[in-house]
Amino acid sequence: MRTRELARLIGTLGKLPRDQRKAVVAELAALESCASSIDVIETGMPGRPDCPRCASRQIIKHGHCGDLQRFLCRHCNRTFNALTGTPLARLHLRGKWIGQAEALRDGLTLHQVSERLHVAVSTAFRWRHRFLALPQTVQTQALIGIAEADEAYFLSSCKGQRHELGRASRKRGGKAKKPGVSPEQVPVLIARDRIGNTANFVLASVTAQEIRRTLRPILPADTVLCTDGGTALAAAARYLGVEHHPINLSAGIHVKGAWHVQNVNAYGSRLKNWMIRFKGVATKYLANYLGWFRALDRSPEFSPDPAQLLALAIRV
Ligand SMILES: [Zn+2]
Repeated sequence: MRTRELARLIGTLGKLPRDQRKAVVAELAALESCASSIDVIETGMPGRPDCPRCASRQIIKHGHCGDLQRFLCRHCNRTFNALTGTPLARLHLRGKWIGQAEALRDGLTLHQVSERLHVAVSTAFRWRHRFLALPQTVQTQALIGIAEADEAYFLSSCKGQRHELGRASRKRGGKAKKPGVSPEQVPVLIARDRIGNTANFVLASVTAQEIRRTLRPILPADTVLCTDGGTALAAAARYLGVEHHPINLSAGIHVKGAWHVQNVNAYGSRLKNWMIRFKGVATKYLANYLGWFRALDRSPEFSPDPAQLLALAIRV
């Protein structure tokens, strides 16, 4: 647009009634947000990417589709863009994705997201789980030095599948009738080293075998493991052959020199507090939330940039 035309457009804006000016502002903000999303989506993608379907390198640029660069694979003759093959492929309203990432960072409920972004609750739900799909797969590859492990328990929930339940639904975020291990509680193993590398997994059961199977890939033989001395954890440590220091918390002992479980316990408390806002999450999505919390907790001050979070939803 020429300078004179732009000046005329700006002059017209001044004559608009207030409500129409607000509509223009909203429209401009949406366009800007869409541009920011596109920047995030395409940043980090090579100029000539390989075909995500056949891995061919015979790729040419092939116009644009919805602001995204489209590519054509000469080998399989199919087109793709930066979102092809990612959890966010074929989702609409890209202009609101930065807002969605921000809402996840802020831990908004689905209804709050729906109101803030002017989308249906079902859309907010679909977006949430598409955004959480990749962070869920990011676990630390190996704990280093002194590591701490502990179990945390979350209420079993079939949220969203009430018709499949044989019992009356529990009040959202209620309490288990039986304390400790029971079918009402879903166990999660949290393992964290002293430099903050963290892994957590939903366990099928709290047995030495299950814990050993879960910890083995991330626990090198020279790791020193501190636990609260629970039977299953202690037996798993023995099976794994790592140096193990149980801390008898029930006897009032919290620290034995360098050996303690205060880091993992603090992480568990932060995780539990953060989960409260969701008022009980469906067990089948629990791993998604654990992954999201790991992403948040890695960020200083628990406040990552929404653009970073959007990038995390697209590529690890
Ligand atoms: Zn191809």
